[in-house]
Amino acid sequence: MPGIGIPSLADNLPPLLKRNYGKWISHEHPRPGVIKHDSETGEVCFTVRAGMPPNARVSTQTLRKICDVADEYSEGFFRVTQRNSLEFVGVPERKIEGLIARLALMGFPVGGTNRSLHNTVCCTGYMHCHLAATDPAAIMKAVSEMLLKEFENDYLPAKLKISGSGCLNNCGEGSTADIGIVGVHRDLPPIHVGKLKGCELPLVISVCPVGAIKPKGPGMVEIDGKRCIHCPACSVACAAMAPIGSADGDGVAIVVGGKAGNTGDGPAIAKVAVPYLPNNPPYWSEVTGAIRKIVYAWHANARKDERVGEWINRIGWAKFYERTGLPVSTKVIDEFDSRAIEYAKSNVRFKW
Ligand code: SF4
Ligand code: SF4
Repeated sequence: MPGIGIPSLADNLPPLLKRNYGKWISHEHPRPGVIKHDSETGEVCFTVRAGMPPNARVSTQTLRKICDVADEYSEGFFRVTQRNSLEFVGVPERKIEGLIARLALMGFPVGGTNRSLHNTVCCTGYMHCHLAATDPAAIMKAVSEMLLKEFENDYLPAKLKISGSGCLNNCGEGSTADIGIVGVHRDLPPIHVGKLKGCELPLVISVCPVGAIKPKGPGMVEIDGKRCIHCPACSVACAAMAPIGSADGDGVAIVVGGKAGNTGDGPAIAKVAVPYLPNNPPYWSEVTGAIRKIVYAWHANARKDERVGEWINRIGWAKFYERTGLPVSTKVIDEFDSRAIEYAKSNVRFKW
């Protein structure tokens, strides 16, 4: 009997990992893209890590090729990591170079370990989400091409994580990455009056995080354009308020300094550094240009093991903008229109 819940882990682990479960004592990085784990039993485990297509999308044809590689090099097992990297775990040391060459022929670069650009991650965006303001998968492809050397080598000050989300819902978790790409809408959600009957209006009103939706007579609501942050929670709750966005209004914000881990300065939520850049496929040159400035300035100026956010914490925002050459926008200061001086001096999200 298969039991209930998700499939068994034991059935999906290579014998090497079963023998050493819970017995690992240390790890090292013998070369970029390769991790060596040592067990107290004396056994070692080599892992080879490669970058996957954006959003870990693979066809069955590609998956069959990956399975063939796993059969030949890692006892028929592989895994996809939290950051959508492809890992062959338990590769015999003598087979590592051959595996890297084989992956290169398939178009899978090996890297993303230690002090390198780790595999980019993103949400589905335009692929099948009606809330997206940008195409995070296409942007991540452009970013990973631009920073291929930084993926394949580990000469950066610390690990670098770049993530993308198609809208402020942040399913791609840009808010906890060193650099996050977040799609932004600038239009108000529509109100298709004829469809409002199908929505629970009290729910629609309560779902707005900033109280921008108000009742306007029986069966009708209105939106306060000054309050709306284009989030777009109401578009999720009510089909009459979707889709939000337009070709001219939508674009990309860049946030920096997020971190999920407990090392260094501890976990942090990323802060807005660039409030708006236009959608400009297929290369998103404004977005990749801004990311390049941040990465190069951080690489040139950060101390060893200093993540992007920790570097900014040390040098301050004035020097961050000076060193990256990015323009400072008043929109990155909370409440700029009403309590600018108070917030600019004391706000927890942005200190000047
Ligand atoms: S972040 Fe936005 S665009 Fe991306 S999957 Fe989530 S809701 Fe959709
Ligand atoms: S988009 Fe977000 S902030 Fe704007 S009205 Fe809808 S729920 Fe409120």
